[in-house]
Amino acid sequence: GDDEKEDSGVRGRHRRNGSFGVKKVKVVVESPYIKLQVWCRQQKGNWELGKIQSTSEEEACVSLSNGNVMKVSRLALLPANPDILEGVDDLIQLSYLNEPSVLYNLKSRYTQDLIYSKAGPVLIALNPFKDVQIYGSEYVEAYKQRCNDNPHVYAVADAAYNEMIRDEVNQSIIISGESGAGKTETAKIAMQYLADLGGGSCGIENDVLQTNFVLESFGNAKTSRNDNSSRFGKLIEIHFSALGKICGAKIQTCKNFQSRVVQLANGERSYHIFYQLCAGASPDLRDRLKLRTASEYRYLNQSDCMTIDGVNDDKKFQGLVKALDVIRMSKQDQERVFKLLAAILWLGNITFHETDNENHIEVVDDEAATIAATLMQCSLKELMVTLSTHKIKAGKDTITKKLTLRQAIDTRDALAKFMYANLFDWLVEQVNKALEVGKRRTGRSISILDIYGFESFQKNSFEQFCINYANERLQQHFNRHLFKLEQEDYELDGVDWTKVEFEDNQVCLDLFEKKPLGLLSLLDEESNFPRATDLTLATKLKQHLSSNPCFKGESGKAFSVRHYAGEVTYDTNGFLEKNRDPLPSDSIKLLSSCSCELLQSFSQVLDPSQQTNSSHLGAMESKRQSVGTKFKGQLFKLMHQMESTTPHFIRCIKPNAKQVPGIYDEDLVLQQLKCCGVLEVVRISRAGYPTRMTHQEFAKRYGLLLSEAHTSLDPLSISIAILQQFNIPPEMYQVGYTKLYLRSGQVGVLEDRRKHI
Ligand code: ATP
Ligand code: MG
Repeated sequence: GDDEKEDSGVRGRHRRNGSFGVKKVKVVVESPYIKLQVWCRQQKGNWELGKIQSTSEEEACVSLSNGNVMKVSRLALLPANPDILEGVDDLIQLSYLNEPSVLYNLKSRYTQDLIYSKAGPVLIALNPFKDVQIYGSEYVEAYKQRCNDNPHVYAVADAAYNEMIRDEVNQSIIISGESGAGKTETAKIAMQYLADLGGGSCGIENDVLQTNFVLESFGNAKTSRNDNSSRFGKLIEIHFSALGKICGAKIQTCKNFQSRVVQLANGERSYHIFYQLCAGASPDLRDRLKLRTASEYRYLNQSDCMTIDGVNDDKKFQGLVKALDVIRMSKQDQERVFKLLAAILWLGNITFHETDNENHIEVVDDEAATIAATLMQCSLKELMVTLSTHKIKAGKDTITKKLTLRQAIDTRDALAKFMYANLFDWLVEQVNKALEVGKRRTGRSISILDIYGFESFQKNSFEQFCINYANERLQQHFNRHLFKLEQEDYELDGVDWTKVEFEDNQVCLDLFEKKPLGLLSLLDEESNFPRATDLTLATKLKQHLSSNPCFKGESGKAFSVRHYAGEVTYDTNGFLEKNRDPLPSDSIKLLSSCSCELLQSFSQVLDPSQQTNSSHLGAMESKRQSVGTKFKGQLFKLMHQMESTTPHFIRCIKPNAKQVPGIYDEDLVLQQLKCCGVLEVVRISRAGYPTRMTHQEFAKRYGLLLSEAHTSLDPLSISIAILQQFNIPPEMYQVGYTKLYLRSGQVGVLEDRRKHI
């Protein structure tokens, strides 16, 4: 049957799995099938194309395309698609949907620079790592006029735009994929298309595009996996007027990782803006900021990586200033921003010397401290006291204690991180003010989500924990829309629908979100215990969560989570500290004493009434929302906004880890296809009935095709009469209570006839 051909092999455990493979080969090895093309699994686990020469009970003899002849177990064979299907642009069209077939199809397209393919309703975008000549006004025009039907980001943006105009329903374009897969570039390409389509006279579409520049300067950095890696998730909501012109936009971000400001891994850089400022500031500005070259700042020079190949930071800085002008940030505010950045850099150069043999320290009174204080507009003495002591309340008295070197460094770094995090938020606020939508109308917006993909490394920490949690949520959104809604629709409408199973990740989400016994709650609870350690955290998690099938306790400080995309082991090392991200109240006081308006406003972010003196260090600290909880809040806000939209999905795929053109690493691609459930989507789309219309709609649209007049009939009867007249075979449609469901391609005939009336 049709259904039996559909083995992706990837998520086989939901199907008749192994037995299915055997069955297939049984068909293959019967004599008429000799010479049939098959995929043959090699020792290394990869697949080679070959032809069956002869067969025995258990084995088959296969001549491979590389000239070798192999005797292999039938289980090592999978059917290959006929040549005529090579490189089809929608995976739905493949006869066999096994791993090697999908991989080979995408590869064959990739080598011809066909970087976009469809997997049913999902666009797959392979990163070319080079300029491909498929963008620009000529192409925009072609997609606008619908004279190009090759899969493309433009086509996705076009569909979203048209659906929005037609139905007055908000749309979203959800872009996901791992680091370096091309999400941010894809988002920009989509925005460019929308700006072109919805460009008006006021020029706001240009402002919207310019915001990318600003956010990338402050939010992106060179990492080992991407020279321009976004370190925050971004949702940009573009609003359109009744005439379909862009009239404003709003940006929401989702981030939690500022440690990059103070700490860098080898070969990585801090946020672009620091290097841009150091390279591009005018002599006057340099003088005012007491700016040096990037290599003279400890926060920047610790990783031995100061430049990016092919990137001119000086030029970028000039571009940034222009972009800030475009979003109408005053020169005065720009100067404030630069001053703050310089202050952060100088803070990082502050050093300490020990005053006793118990590691207690004092701040070295040098130019770093002096300049930092000047730029922050606070008193040098207060800065030095804040960075070297903490106050403890003992009854009515306050005792001042000297910090140890480690504590002092942490205090200094926490201050720098806090300043940068708030600067970023403030900047987003400014951008939003500049793009503010006047009268907002629902049903006229397109949101583009660009968010970090699933991460799994040798060592996974709190950052991966948060990122993967976000992806788990995103995956549920994806599942819901593509699988659940589809099936619920059938079931509610009384359609006979053999359930297609899909990976539901609710159990894993529960593991993270359940209160009080979920990962995030337990983490927060432990973060509030003064004497908790990473080990006590791990023990607590194991104690309470082991009954969840997605949780697995590991030895020592580790635990594993079975994510939809695979199992990840997390090391709780640093979890508590990163979740608390404490800023001593002395530091907050210091900030509020600064004459710098920005810093003052940042200190007010922290509600002083919430400050407590019973925290884990015994020092007075503000009790802020934990990092994990804040992240969850931001994530929920994003997801909530997406709920009411019609989603369009783009899955970006990184063909190789070297970030170079022309290399297609099959393992890497396969792993990503698995992570995003692409194959599952194809299976459903192919098995389902993608065209659906209410009986009224159907009768109204095609009723005029009926040869006899049926004016007295109800819509359902008219629908059935039409189907009969056109001899549409019963397996090609299903009749629901309210709607008619048709397999792909069926309305084509009717539409053709309609045109000729
Ligand atoms: P991260 O999660 O780290 O932010 P990302 O998925 O946003 O990664 P991008 O920054 O969009 O990845 O892409 C990485 C690089 O790949 C780009 O800097 C660019 O060099 C290249 N690239 C991506 N998409 C394209 C494209 N369509 N055409 C040409 N080059 C591309
Ligand atoms: Mg990015």
